[in-house]
Amino acid sequence: MTKRLYYDDSHLLDFAAQVIAVEAHGENLFRVTLDRTAFYPTGGGQPHDTGALDNHTVVECLNADTHDAVVHVVRADAGAFAVGTTIAGRVDGARRFDHIQQHTAQHILSRSFRELYDAATEGFRLTETHGEVDIKLDDPTDARIHDALVLANRIVWENRPVHVHYMTPDEVARRGVRQRFEREGTMRVIEIEGFDLNPCGGTHAARTGEVGMILIPFWERAKGMTRLTFVAGERALEDYTHANRTARDVASHFSVSRDDALAAVLRLTDEHKTLQRRVRELSTLAAEAEAARLITESDPRPDDTRLITRIFTDRDAAALRTLAQRLATHTRTVALLACGEADTVRLVFARSLDAPGDMNQLMREACIALDGRGGGTSELAQGGGCFTPNLQATLAALAARV
Ligand SMILES: [Zn+2]
Repeated sequence: MTKRLYYDDSHLLDFAAQVIAVEAHGENLFRVTLDRTAFYPTGGGQPHDTGALDNHTVVECLNADTHDAVVHVVRADAGAFAVGTTIAGRVDGARRFDHIQQHTAQHILSRSFRELYDAATEGFRLTETHGEVDIKLDDPTDARIHDALVLANRIVWENRPVHVHYMTPDEVARRGVRQRFEREGTMRVIEIEGFDLNPCGGTHAARTGEVGMILIPFWERAKGMTRLTFVAGERALEDYTHANRTARDVASHFSVSRDDALAAVLRLTDEHKTLQRRVRELSTLAAEAEAARLITESDPRPDDTRLITRIFTDRDAAALRTLAQRLATHTRTVALLACGEADTVRLVFARSLDAPGDMNQLMREACIALDGRGGGTSELAQGGGCFTPNLQATLAALAARV
């Protein structure tokens, strides 16, 4: 049985205790049980404390299976423990205070949503970076969440006392807490004076002012609930600093003030769309002009068919296809176009309706030669394969078969 000193004083960091059990835990760890401890074991969504027992580092802290004792997992490199000796325990104060800020913030946030929207809290988790609360709020909006956040921060700034009570479920119910409890007997209840009463075994502030500030950087709908991501205290300062730096970096990129950054980004997005449209139009015009030049430069065969084979190095598939289609608008024209880059070759074959040849068949033969894949219709086919130095000869052989 371990007496939990943090129940009555969440700010107690140094304590003396007697070792009542020690067992080896793997090669380099001990599991140490004490008669009393200020260490908070993982539970209720809140991670464990860290610190030291004498000069042994406490890496983890958990409830014994029976829940009547707290087990400290410590590094064994500072020597062994002896049952019956008295040790000095020290909880890492920075980590504890961070957990106090986040956990107390959760109580205040949960009550704020209950107060304004009668929305109950269904779950809470605290990670290394943020807290998450799942709330039964069916119609969340930024405005509603902001209103609850304003109320929560007012409670913080009013610096209300936070009391620890021990009550029976009946006494809790008489104080207006609409919650059913599985456990019988006395339980620990946390009261934020004049605001909230909530059964809880965690570590809390002595006054709400310790929480500093609460922020909700994100919220989302998840599993039929509203999941709030929140940060409090020093984490809120870090989050603001990071968000402000990001906004200022974006703003300085556009040489505008921070609050004008969004407008600058939206303007750029609009311009980008307009330019993309213009590039598409100009690409079509360029393909038309290039097709006309290739036709002019080519000599027709005796049967009046023009065979145009070209290998490019700087065309994407869309540009290659556009050029082939423009060539196919000219009479009795067959275009066998390729683009070779690094290890790959892209192919587009096209012909005008009055020209001979089956582009699909030619493409299949090309793909066999280039170990690739492709196909299409008798008038237009696309494909690709592996680059070969003989690409020119391959195209010429195919052209000769038209
Ligand atoms: Zn709590």
